[in-house]
Amino acid sequence: MRPKIGVLALQGDFEAHEKALRESGSEPVLVRTRADLDSIDGLILPGGESTTMLKLLDVEDLFEPLRKFGETKPIFGTCAGAILLADNVVNPQQRSLGLLDLTLERNGYGRQIDSRIASIELDGKPAEAVFIRAPIIRRAGPAVRVIASYLGTPVLVENGLHMAATFHPELSSENRIHELFVKKVQNIEKAYLNYTETT
Ligand code: GLN
Repeated sequence: MRPKIGVLALQGDFEAHEKALRESGSEPVLVRTRADLDSIDGLILPGGESTTMLKLLDVEDLFEPLRKFGETKPIFGTCAGAILLADNVVNPQQRSLGLLDLTLERNGYGRQIDSRIASIELDGKPAEAVFIRAPIIRRAGPAVRVIASYLGTPVLVENGLHMAATFHPELSSENRIHELFVKKVQNIEKAYLNYTETT
């Protein structure tokens, strides 16, 4: 089964996600309106500028529909997308979807790591992580599972239905992180189908 996975395409780095999703066994769909959410099994919120994205979400009347979508379907937020997904955002404070039990500080690595290609460990093997004015995870709730860390703080996490990366997995040559999300979407779909068949 090739799940249909949306990429929010209002602003930011959505085309590279589209390509990575296609190469990872899913059918990408660019999401620009509320109706686009109806046909997809999961969604990626890309990197870019979270304040601009928030404004555009209001223009398209998409903020509340996205929050609702996230109550039952998996969302993967990368960089600015992770900021949109978090519970709490500081530096400065701003509105967010509140779907991940995280506090994120925008541009939290400061000027020293303004932009950097780092090596992280993923499933016991090295992987590339591209940081661009990245947020830092300042607090992670008890149900958050850390998948990868960098310089002692989590950079790739899972919390229930959702995932977040503070870097840009779509800018690496490998698609291992997109493959993880595609698998997560497939597993959730399977669990849902089993549940509806047995009830
Ligand atoms: N600094 C941006 C923000 O605060 C995020 C940067 C990114 O997505 N690469 O929204």
